[in-house]
Amino acid sequence: MALQERGEYWYGDSAADIRALMARHAEIGDPIEVVRDAVCECGGTVFSVLIDDEYQEVAWFCRACHTQYLFHTRPVAGPYDGDPESDVEGFRCPCTDRGGSYFEVAVGVSLYRGSDDVDFVYLGCRCVACGLTGYMTEAWHRIEYPYPELFAHMGNRQDAEPDGGV
Ligand SMILES: [Zn+2]
Ligand SMILES: [Zn+2]
Repeated sequence: MALQERGEYWYGDSAADIRALMARHAEIGDPIEVVRDAVCECGGTVFSVLIDDEYQEVAWFCRACHTQYLFHTRPVAGPYDGDPESDVEGFRCPCTDRGGSYFEVAVGVSLYRGSDDVDFVYLGCRCVACGLTGYMTEAWHRIEYPYPELFAHMGNRQDAEPDGGV
């Protein structure tokens, strides 16, 4: 088994298939050059997801230990608790009518030519219920700082529970 196209979606059977999908991205747009998988401090790799596309923030919650992480594109190093105007919404797989969905998550980036600076950010996910593998949102772009700083935001742990979480 590997990444397979069925109807309008792609399906995979492991987080590696998010990378496989991203590797194909050069066929339709910019090449996604660097990819990191989301991994909780506990080792968990399955998360529920809240996203705010406008503010370019996405929160993921570890299914195993409920630790929350807030990934964002602000040029802020260290702890960041999100824009107060941000209004994240639960991200759901089409296979799920109601209730939570759980995903493996990976962040991929394209770079400005000849540099480590991020141009586009792609949020990839694979639903652990049905295997649907895709992108959570349109790419976020013009990040314009080095990718190690952006990937460091994947470890931006939040200690408080948000209001109205999933
Ligand atoms: Zn965890
Ligand atoms: Zn699904």
